[in-house]
Amino acid sequence: RELPGDPESGPRRREVLGALWSPVLPTPVAAPRLIAHSPECARLLGIAEADIASAEFAQVFGGNALLPGMQPYAANYGGHQFGQWAGQLGDGRAITLGEVVNPAGERWEIQLKGAGPTPYSRSADGRAVLRSSIREFLCSEAMHHLGVPTTRALSLVGTGESVVRDMFYDGRPQAEPGAIVCRVAPSFLRLGNFELPASRDDIELLRQLVDFCIRRDFPHLHGEGEALYAAWFAEVCRRTAAMVAHWMRVGFVHGVMNTDNLSVLGLTIDYGPYGWIDDYDPDWTPNTTDAQGRRYRFGWQPKVAYWNLTRFAQALSPLFAGIEPLQDGLQQYGETFAAAERGNIIGKLGLGEYREGDSDLFEQLLALLQAGEVDMTLFFRALMDADLQAGSLDAFDAAFYDPARRESASEGLLAWLARYRQRLQDDPLPAAQRRERMRLANPRYVLRNYLAQLAIDRAHAGDEAGIGELLEVMRHPYDDQPGNERFAQRRPDWARDRAGCSMLSCSS
Ligand code: AMP
Ligand code: MG
Ligand code: MG
Repeated sequence: RELPGDPESGPRRREVLGALWSPVLPTPVAAPRLIAHSPECARLLGIAEADIASAEFAQVFGGNALLPGMQPYAANYGGHQFGQWAGQLGDGRAITLGEVVNPAGERWEIQLKGAGPTPYSRSADGRAVLRSSIREFLCSEAMHHLGVPTTRALSLVGTGESVVRDMFYDGRPQAEPGAIVCRVAPSFLRLGNFELPASRDDIELLRQLVDFCIRRDFPHLHGEGEALYAAWFAEVCRRTAAMVAHWMRVGFVHGVMNTDNLSVLGLTIDYGPYGWIDDYDPDWTPNTTDAQGRRYRFGWQPKVAYWNLTRFAQALSPLFAGIEPLQDGLQQYGETFAAAERGNIIGKLGLGEYREGDSDLFEQLLALLQAGEVDMTLFFRALMDADLQAGSLDAFDAAFYDPARRESASEGLLAWLARYRQRLQDDPLPAAQRRERMRLANPRYVLRNYLAQLAIDRAHAGDEAGIGELLEVMRHPYDDQPGNERFAQRRPDWARDRAGCSMLSCSS
């Protein structure tokens, strides 16, 4: 069904009924040029470094050429955005090129983001700007190295064309360099892919998609009919819980947890207005569009993921005779999240085992970190080596943003450290093992908003080396990296309130 205001050329924008995807070709760009790539991701796909350096690589991953066998398409999906059903959305600027089966027999989908309009582009241009592409490229890989389930990024290609967007620095539309990220995942299916046919009462199409997803992406699940669907739904719930628990562990805020941005595989997907917690603040959201409601604030992520799964359950309900199996899956979300949260607590505090009272201990700490405006990443990392008998906060000097806030929270923090010391005395874990457990739960390097922004500013000024430097640091987030301490500092004052740095909109 045609949408009004179709452009003269390019794919016709439309409501696509009775179909899960549309074939569409990337729109060629003026001068594709490789800006950065991820060697690990290339290895995953079995792509040799020599091929990445070739001119052909930039042609293919800039959308100007196809390799034999590629059959590009855009997926059709809907979603609940900010709590409301939004109807058909679809891949408006993402185009899947095809699948690769690597030498290990793993199957990976490769998808260009920013490769031009599709039938799902609605009124937008199908393109992405360099700054948001740098952010997606870097964060995908940083999350992977942190051990957080995520889509990957193979390459960042400059298009040689400019794209017009609102820059939030001064509110005026500006021409900016365009870019294309190649993302990689076993599947890009989202909860919204299932919601759309359900919303149209197209139950046969819904069933077809569910069967396809289970067969392709959950081949370890056996059985048939409702029992199989129930096992699958429960696994989606558990994977989502595990993913969100990782976000809470490392201080990641997705920023736009609409159901079209939640992967059915439990992978972090769609790096748009995401951000990282600097000072611990559960009410912080990086999303300017969400500044009012703060639906997608850091501390609400576990709740919002659950709400999204209830929308997903609703969409799947026509496949079930009763709602019990769906309720059971949702319950598994809660149980899995609670268990993962206990894992976060023993990891972040270095405890041998979880005991009653540990959640309270942890919650008390978080409240103090918030009250004292303390950097989350720096605090936990410092806790690993702090002398708990010192009776001072000197070990945490680098983690405080505001002397007055430090002063007001210091009594509480010192009392907490004493309680923590007591708890450790009563814990079986030897000191070396405790330190190692804490090291692996508490990254030293995260992709702080201002670090990505510095790399972006440099790239806009013609120096793209900052992207690779940051990627290199983020490849080993749990290691101390002598010489790279400058990437493990608290956010500088200039970055505190700068719009467009710690605050970003979605569709750039
Ligand atoms: P997001 O909030 O980024 O998840 O985007 C929501 C919807 O808008 C998705 O269907 C996107 O494909 C689409 N979209 C976002 N940016 C663009 C763009 N520049 N061109 C076309 N579609 C877009
Ligand atoms: Mg999206
Ligand atoms: Mg997006």
